[in-house]
Order: sequence, then structure tokens, then C-alpha cells
Amino acid sequence: MDVLWAGWRSTYMGEVQAGTDTDACLFCELPSASDEDAYILERGETAFSVLNLYPYTSGHLMITPFRHAGMPGELTSDEQSDVWRLLTRSQAALADVLGPHGYNLGANLGRAGGAGVLGHFHLHVVPRWSGDANFMTATANARILPEPLIETWQKLRVALDA
Ligand SMILES: [Zn+2]
Repeated sequence: MDVLWAGWRSTYMGEVQAGTDTDACLFCELPSASDEDAYILERGETAFSVLNLYPYTSGHLMITPFRHAGMPGELTSDEQSDVWRLLTRSQAALADVLGPHGYNLGANLGRAGGAGVLGHFHLHVVPRWSGDANFMTATANARILPEPLIETWQKLRVALDA
């Protein structure tokens, strides 16, 4: 599992990693793009779900509020509810589309917690398959992506609309 957490430190976009709280925030900017361009899966009232551009496994997605807020306790109750609602919906869609054997949920809070994008809470949802970590180790951290992101996005959108 240590390997997995290291993977989560990878950022959605590399250039954001060196940024600070005051620099342009990826999660604040993403919603202005089209769903397809940004791989946004769903837009709720106060939060949205989006595929990770550099997934640890196929279907690796993130759920984040629209508003720039860093810690879970800074989220309003509406935002907390929306994040959880999107979590349950996206997890069900992942189950339908990809049939993973399990999942990891996680958030890296603050610089010392390994957050790639500081100050904007985002929950990672990582589908897992039996033996995937061993396979990753065997291939020296190569990212094995059996499916292009756009295909995963399209399938998940269909599942979410069902
Ligand atoms: Zn932000």
C-alpha cells in the first residue's frame, strides 16, 4: 500500500506540482473547460467528479468541490453531501464499467501530506485489481493503461446516465 500512496502524489498536471496556494489552482480552473476536454464525469450542485489525467489504474478519478477549500472541515455540509453523493455514484459506475476487485479512497492534505494541488480538497478513487500492485512493481513503476482516457470517460458517462 505504500506504493499506492506514492502514486497518489502524482499530480493531475505536472506543472501544478511546483505551485503554491496562491498560484492558479487546477481544480478551480477545470470546470471552465468542457466536460470532454477536462474528462469531467459529473457536475453536481457544489462538486464535480473528473478522471485523473495520470491515473494510477484505469478509472482513477477524483471528486472535488467547485469552491477552493482545503480541509474536509472547511467544506459546507452541502459540499460534503455532494462529494459523498458523487463518490457513491462514480464507484457504482466504475463497478459497472471496469469491474474492479476493490478500491482505494484517499486524500492528501497539505504539503506534508503529499498533496499535489494544495489548498483544494480532492478525494481520489482508485480502482484496484488483484495483483495490480505486484504488476506495477515488476514493471518498475511503468503506468499500465489498458484503455485510453477518452474511452474510459465515455463508458463511465454512459453508466452514470443509466
Ligand atoms: Zn482551487
